[in-house]
Amino acid sequence: MNPHLVFWVPVAIRMAAMAVGGGVLWWMFGMVPALVVSLLALATIVFVQLRYLSQLSFWMDDPQSGRLPDGWGEWTTVFSRLYRMRRDDEKNQKELTEWLARFRQAMHLLPDGVVIMDDVLFLEWCNPAAEAHLGLRHDRDKGMRVTNLIRSPEFMDYIILGRYDQPLTLTFRERKLIVHIIPFENRRQILVTHDVTETERNEMMRRDFIANASHELRTPLTVIVGFLEIALSEELDPATRLAHLKLMMEQGQRMQHLIEDMLTLSRLESVDHPLRSERVDVKKLLDRVLSDARALSAGKHTISLEVNGPDISGSPDELHSAFGNLASNAVRYTPAGGEIRLKWQRSSRGAQFVVEDTGIGISPEHISRLTERFYRVDKSRSRETQGTGLGLAIVKHVLLRHGGNLSITSEAGKGSSFTVSLPGA
Ligand code: ADP
Repeated sequence: MNPHLVFWVPVAIRMAAMAVGGGVLWWMFGMVPALVVSLLALATIVFVQLRYLSQLSFWMDDPQSGRLPDGWGEWTTVFSRLYRMRRDDEKNQKELTEWLARFRQAMHLLPDGVVIMDDVLFLEWCNPAAEAHLGLRHDRDKGMRVTNLIRSPEFMDYIILGRYDQPLTLTFRERKLIVHIIPFENRRQILVTHDVTETERNEMMRRDFIANASHELRTPLTVIVGFLEIALSEELDPATRLAHLKLMMEQGQRMQHLIEDMLTLSRLESVDHPLRSERVDVKKLLDRVLSDARALSAGKHTISLEVNGPDISGSPDELHSAFGNLASNAVRYTPAGGEIRLKWQRSSRGAQFVVEDTGIGISPEHISRLTERFYRVDKSRSRETQGTGLGLAIVKHVLLRHGGNLSITSEAGKGSSFTVSLPGA
C-alpha cells in the first residue's frame, strides 16, 4: 500500500473522531466545556508528540546506547522504520568489517607486494610482501613519499617517465622485482611488486648448465671427429690406427659417463621421481663400494673399510651412487702409494660415512663450491681421471633427498676428509 496513505489515513480518522467527540460534547454540555475538553485533548497530544521528539533526539545522539520506545500512533511507524534502518545498518557494517578482514588476510598471504599510494606517491598502505620486497614498514612509513623510501635511480627514472603501461624490472636489496604501477579510483595508485629472484637464478643455472654440458660434450667429440678425419684422409699403419681407436674409445667413454651422470642428476631432481625408501644393508652396500674403489685403484692405493654403524633407510641405488662417487674421488685425487679409509660409524643424528684420503687435498677457497655442477679445482686432472665434474653434485642431491648433509675438511697437499651424515632408520 502507498506509504503516504498508511501514514495519513489513521491521522485523518483520529482527527475526525476528535471533531465528532468535540461536536457531541458541544451538543450535550454546551460550547465552553466542549472547548475546554478539546483544548486539554490537544495539549495532551502536543505533549506526547514533544516527548517522543525529545526521545528521538536523545536516541539520535547515540543510537547504539538505548532503545527507542514503542511509540504511539504515527510514532509507531516512524520508530519501527528507524529500528529497521538501524538493524540493516548494523548488518551492513558487520558484513563490511568481515569483508575487510578477509581482504586484509588475503593481502597478507599474497606473495606479491601491494602498495597503495595517493596521486602524488604518498604511501597509504602496504602488505607484508611489499614490506619485505621494498624494505618498507607500514606503521613507520605511512604518509611518506614512496620515492624517498625506494631509493633507486631506476625507480626514479620510471616515475619521472611515467610510462606505467610497461613494467619496470628493478634490482633492489639483492632482489630482482617486476614492478607495475596501476592508477585506480581518481586520486590513487597501486604499486605491485613480483619477486623473480628465484626464477632468474634458476634460469641462469639452466643456461650455465646447458653451456657447460655442451662444452663438456664438444671436447671429446672434437677429438673423435679429428681422428675420424685423419682415418678418412690418410692410410694409417696398424699401430697408429690402434692408438687412435683407443683414444677415440676413451673419449667415447668420457661422453658416456657424462651423459650417465647428467641423467642421474636429472632423475634426482625430478619431482616425478620420489625417493623409494627401504631398509639398507649398509655392510653389503659398502663392500660393493670397496671393491669398485679397489678395481679403480688397480692396486695403487691401500684402501680399508670399517663398518661399525647401524643400518639406515633410504634408496640403496642412490646411496651406492653417492658413496661410490666419494670413494672414487678419493682414489682419483690420491697419488699412487696413498691411503684411503672408508668408515661407517654411529653418530648423534644416526650414522656417518667418512672417506679419508692422503691425496692432493683442496685449498679452502674451493671447498664451498665443490658441489656445484661442473666445478673442478683442476680441470685437466679431473679429465685425466675420467671426471665429469658432476660427482659431488650427485652426492649433494642424494643427501638432500635422504635428509642428510655433507661436510668437507681438507688441506692442500695433505689429504681430505668427506663426511656424510644421515638420519637413523
Ligand atoms: P670430478 O668428476 O671432476 O671429480 P666431482 O664433482 O666429483 O667432479 O668433484 C669436484 C671437484 O672436487 C673435483 O674436480 C676435484 O677438484 C675436487 N675433489 C673432489 N674430491 C676430492 C678429493 N678427495 N681430493 C681432492 N679433490 C677432490
